[in-house]
Amino acid sequence: MLRDELYSVESALAKVLSQVHRLPPQVASLTNALLGLVLAEDIYADRDSPPFAKSLVDGFAVRCQDDTPERRVVMEIMAGATPSQPLGVGEAARVATGAMLPEGADVVVMQEQVEPAGPDRIRLLRQPRTGENVLPQGAEMRRGELILPAGTVVRPAEIGVLASLGKTAVSVYRQPVVAILPTGDELVEPGMMPGPGQIRNSNAAMLAALVARNNALPRYLGIARDSFDSLRPLVREGLKCDVLLLSGGVSVGPLDLVPQLLREQGVQLLFHKVWLKPGKPLLFGVYDDKLVFGLPGNPVSSFVSFELFVRPALRVMLGKSEPHLAYLQATFAEEFYYRTDRPTYHPAKLWLDEGAWRVDAVPWLGSADLRALTRANALLCLPAGENRFVPGQAVQVLAIESPW
Ligand code: AMP
Ligand code: MG
Repeated sequence: MLRDELYSVESALAKVLSQVHRLPPQVASLTNALLGLVLAEDIYADRDSPPFAKSLVDGFAVRCQDDTPERRVVMEIMAGATPSQPLGVGEAARVATGAMLPEGADVVVMQEQVEPAGPDRIRLLRQPRTGENVLPQGAEMRRGELILPAGTVVRPAEIGVLASLGKTAVSVYRQPVVAILPTGDELVEPGMMPGPGQIRNSNAAMLAALVARNNALPRYLGIARDSFDSLRPLVREGLKCDVLLLSGGVSVGPLDLVPQLLREQGVQLLFHKVWLKPGKPLLFGVYDDKLVFGLPGNPVSSFVSFELFVRPALRVMLGKSEPHLAYLQATFAEEFYYRTDRPTYHPAKLWLDEGAWRVDAVPWLGSADLRALTRANALLCLPAGENRFVPGQAVQVLAIESPW
C-alpha cells in the first residue's frame, strides 16, 4: 500500500535501510575486480612472514657481540638464496636486501657504515645494536594468525596481503546487479539525433556509472515508453535483478505510469514523496527481497536521489559495515544566499585549504542542470528557508567523491 505522505530524507533513508540485506557470499579470484568488495571469510596466515629472519638493507650480517671491529667476509647471500654455513666468531656475510640471514648473525650493518680492511676483511665504523636492519622471522605475521577478518573492504594493500598469503580466490559478498530502466516518450539514445521535442537519454549512462562506481553491476534494459505495454515487460525483466532503478514517470502527470504499473506487478510501494530538493517525487518499494527505486527524471534529481538513498542501500548489500555517507563541516570561501522551500542539496565545490575544508556553491539552475554537477564534487546541505552565509561561516556538506 502506497502511503502518500511526505517523508523527510532521514526517515526515507531509514525506511530503505530497514528493507535491505547483505547479499550472500561467492568466491572470486584475486583480480582488481575485488577492489571495494568486502571479504566474507576470515583470512589467516599460512606461514610466517617473513618466513626467515631477513635483511632490510644491503650490507654485512655480523654477530653483534664479537669484540673486534674487524670481520672476515666468508660468504655472500643474495635475496632468494640460502646461506651455505653458519656465521662463526669474527665473521661477516655480505647480504642483499631481502636475503636470509645466516645462523649466528644477529644484525646487519649497512654497507655505508663499514670500510675495507684488507682482502676479504671489513671494519665496522660504529658498534651495531642487536637486531638493527633485521626483520625477525614472523615479525609481520605468524602462521595461523588472523590477518584480515571477514568484513574487511578490499583495497590495494589487502590485494597485496592476499597475494602474499597465496590466496588466489577468496569469498566476498556478491555484488548487486542493478537494472537501469529510463522511461519517457521524449528520449532517444545518445547516438541518435533528437527530433523536435526529443532529448537524449543521459540518465541511463549516468546511473550506470554511479552503479559501477559503487561496486555494483549495472544492467541496462533500454528505454521504456510512457505506456503500460512498453513498461510492463521491461519492469518484469528489471524485477529479476537485485535492484531496479527506474528514471522518470514517477510524478503525478497523466503519463507518470510507473507507480501504477509497479503496483500492478506486485511491488509493495513504501514511499513516494521525500521532502527534499532536488528530487521530491521519489518512489521506493520492495518485491520479495528486491529493491525498486523510481528516481525522478530530471538528471540532478536522479543523481542526488541515487547518492542519498541508493548508494547506502548498495553499501549494505555489499556487506559494508557503514552504510552512511560522509557528511562533513566546511566553511564558505565566498558569501552565499539561497532561499528554498525544502531541505536542499546544492551542487558545490569542496577543497582543502591549509588542512581545513572550504566550500563554495557552484552556479546551478535547478534539477535539470546536470552541467552544474560537472563543476561540483559535493552537495551543500541547506535547510528550508532563507540561507544566508558569510565567508568563513560553517555549513554541512556531503562529499560525493573524494575531493582530492
Ligand atoms: P519525468 O520525471 O518523467 O516527468 O521527467 C522529468 C524531466 O526529466 C523531463 O524534463 C524529462 O524529459 C527529463 N528526463 C526524464 N528521463 C530522462 C533521461 N533518461 N535522461 C535525461 N532526461 C530525462
Ligand atoms: Mg517522463
